[in-house]
Amino acid sequence: MPKISSPVYIIGNKPISMTNFLTGIINTILPPRCIKCGKILEEVDGLCSDCFNEVTFVTKPYCSKCGMPFHEEVSGNKMLCGTCVKNKNQHFRMARSSLEYDEVSKPLILSFKFYDRTEYNKVFAKWLKLAGKDIFDAGVDLIIPIPLHYTRLLKRRYNQSALLAKELSKLSGIKTDYGSVVRHKRTKPQVQFSGSARHRNVKDAFSVKRPINIKGKRIILIDDVMTTGSTLSECAKALLSSGALSVDFLTIARVDG
Ligand SMILES: [Zn+2]
Ligand SMILES: [Zn+2]
Repeated sequence: MPKISSPVYIIGNKPISMTNFLTGIINTILPPRCIKCGKILEEVDGLCSDCFNEVTFVTKPYCSKCGMPFHEEVSGNKMLCGTCVKNKNQHFRMARSSLEYDEVSKPLILSFKFYDRTEYNKVFAKWLKLAGKDIFDAGVDLIIPIPLHYTRLLKRRYNQSALLAKELSKLSGIKTDYGSVVRHKRTKPQVQFSGSARHRNVKDAFSVKRPINIKGKRIILIDDVMTTGSTLSECAKALLSSGALSVDFLTIARVDG
């Protein structure tokens, strides 16, 4: 006899657990929908098959450090891109992203970030867990979402990165720290800048309030999009100077190039 730990209900001829029973009721009232086109889905998954084919997931081959996709054939597992070969002093151990940031993923991420589609976090966190496999395999102690400046948090009412971190924490069993790092500088949105101006905009924007929580920890920093990586790098710099052992970046999407 199999060991059954939760109450079991018999619906038709099928025994189902309490959790599945409640999920069944919720799915009947509020069926899961494709987050892109709104079509009702059979299973909770996030995208219908048509939309799934339109989204570009970041897949191998990519740079083993920064995760930049290689568009030509390369051999071996430990390939580095030109930037990572040249620049040995980057402030991160590995960077990974689920999607390429393009005209398909952009509206999904903008809706999640600015237009209250907070329910996307479940699907996105599932993708983050898959994209971050190399990072999780290498070992992680703490998840930290990139903090917003408090004035922006008041205006926007939620931090999209914190929602992702919370859900990823549930999936991975790794603790999330929401309060040890702060963005003390009120930076302008990075989208207004390019190149080195992006770096100047976020320079010294972050500080660690409670170094004791950071010291000796292997940390994953969570953000929605990685463009040049300036924001993530500045935050990593603050964490490393407070004694973090390593910092990895995990984002829903990345800008290619
Ligand atoms: Zn769809
Ligand atoms: Zn690289």
